[in-house]
Amino acid sequence: MNKFPRSAYVHIPFCHRRCFYCDFAVIPLGNNLETLQGYGSKTVKEYLRYLYKEILSIKHKSPLSTIYLGGGTPSILHPLQIKELIDLFKENYGVDYGAEITMEVDPASFNEDDLYGFINAGINRFSLGVQSFNDRVLQNSGRRHLREDVEKSCSWLKRVFDSGLINSWSLDLIQNLPLSGSKEWQDDLDKAITFMPPHISIYDLNIENGTVFKKLDNLGKLEVPSDDEAFKNSELTNVILKNSGYSRYEISNYCLPRHQSRHNRVYWSGLGWWSFGQGSTSSPWGEKFTRPRVSKEYKEWVTWQNEHNLDSSLINNEFVYKELDEKIMLGLRLKEGVDIYKVLQEQNWENKKFESNFIKLLNEWEKFLESGLLVRNGKRFFLSQPKGMELSNQILISMFKWWEEIN
Ligand code: SF4
Repeated sequence: MNKFPRSAYVHIPFCHRRCFYCDFAVIPLGNNLETLQGYGSKTVKEYLRYLYKEILSIKHKSPLSTIYLGGGTPSILHPLQIKELIDLFKENYGVDYGAEITMEVDPASFNEDDLYGFINAGINRFSLGVQSFNDRVLQNSGRRHLREDVEKSCSWLKRVFDSGLINSWSLDLIQNLPLSGSKEWQDDLDKAITFMPPHISIYDLNIENGTVFKKLDNLGKLEVPSDDEAFKNSELTNVILKNSGYSRYEISNYCLPRHQSRHNRVYWSGLGWWSFGQGSTSSPWGEKFTRPRVSKEYKEWVTWQNEHNLDSSLINNEFVYKELDEKIMLGLRLKEGVDIYKVLQEQNWENKKFESNFIKLLNEWEKFLESGLLVRNGKRFFLSQPKGMELSNQILISMFKWWEEIN
């Protein structure tokens, strides 16, 4: 394992407005993309100043092999601002030859010229937040873009990918949005694969506290697909994507051969990563740290860090995995599963304790192994496809129960 993290996540919190299901740390800028309301606004410029300060405050800088600009909506920024950000990493950390540099883009926030600008800035992988191709579903979810915007963005991305200007791109959809029954969902999937994106992420809708959807849900006015329809939607996803050549390499992620997200694999495999920006979570040495979610507090925190000459990477202690349950959970989400022996050994338990905890976990999982939801191959455990992946919650809950009991 590398001594220092080789991956960095950067949070760009700006959005035009908040979507009805979103509880991320975002700063709505309004609908106007004019310079002074958008990338040229005081709010954006000031945030970037603090962000750069934070990036430079790390003492243990070492060359990066993945960078991920997420949000929010990073494509609200001007290509020159994206270039400045990537250059900051190149000049101060170093960026490996062949590094994966991803940027999330929102269909209504960039045009074709911007796309070329982002590529010139060093971006070689894009993640397009489509969510749906259906105008009713999009509008009902508070999204600002329409099907027409999505189709344009997809064809631009397909073109730059086919011509070798970028290494990969991902099309992201949300399953079970309100008004998205099986017919609408099948249309979304069918439309998505006409662009043959090398990577597709399918997230299930979660109703988070504090969102418009939560309020509607409390009032009994949220029209999400029924359980039966949701089940049918999952089946459609599995069948359509599998038949189109996509492999499900993680619960929410599908790809064509050689297009797994390298950056996301860092999170799932428990390797360390830097993170910068308000509300973002880093885990450089195994211990997680989340920055303040609110701008004012984030800026105060960066100032405090700088004044005290502290390194926001926390302290480089021994690399220990304190959150074993999380490590098992992340491993189980992957197609190849998790080597339980290896992760338990990292706890440094004495033999007796190791044996007894392992047996308790096996007892918890016995019924899942018998029903075929969970599969064991020597020391490795993985979810079966598609059933185990669909019902992963039951298996994860039993593992969390085990973790609670042994602590
Ligand atoms: S664009 Fe993305 S980050 Fe911004 S409000 Fe919508 S869901 Fe949240």
